[in-house]
Amino acid sequence: MPNTEPNSQCGKESERNWTEDFEHENGNYQCRCIECKNMFIGHKRRVVCKVCDGKESDFKKKYFTNNFYWVNETNYKKLQEIALEFGCLCHTKKKQIIEWHEGFKCLGFRTYETNDNVTVFQKEPFLMERETATNYNDMLKEYADIQLTAAKSEVERLTAKIEACKVGLENLADPESDVTYYKCKELLTTLNEK
Ligand SMILES: [Zn+2]
Repeated sequence: MPNTEPNSQCGKESERNWTEDFEHENGNYQCRCIECKNMFIGHKRRVVCKVCDGKESDFKKKYFTNNFYWVNETNYKKLQEIALEFGCLCHTKKKQIIEWHEGFKCLGFRTYETNDNVTVFQKEPFLMERETATNYNDMLKEYADIQLTAAKSEVERLTAKIEACKVGLENLADPESDVTYYKCKELLTTLNEK
């Protein structure tokens, strides 16, 4: 298959890879980075490569850096999950979710950058002067768009792979030979790898 992307190489040694994912189940997926569009290897749910993860994404800048949200019981957890996904941490400096409890009722969440350039979130019951709350639904919509784009490129990638396998199967010269057997096995393995 011809490669049309800027850099579709993603060998095991690429600095874009999430090497710490490799040992995990689902940790060896080829993913396309939503920031730089390059391929990288990592957990199937990752959306950015390791290089871009170090940079601030536009989404994170817009929705998770010095933002304030009013949240309720239905959206408080999702908000934190998305923040974690984009590299923010709980104010404890861990990848942690602040659990809902009855005393919260309607709660504010604030994100802010700390001295070591980490963006953290914490619950906070009030807005600061001349501050406006960020719209939760706007954030969620943009988040969904990012997920959709990632899913589409995943479908494109798998479709290309299936096509390549089909071509490979059609090109097998002698259906009776051992070569055919091993070629088929190889193609099936490639398909199953996803
Ligand atoms: Zn990237």
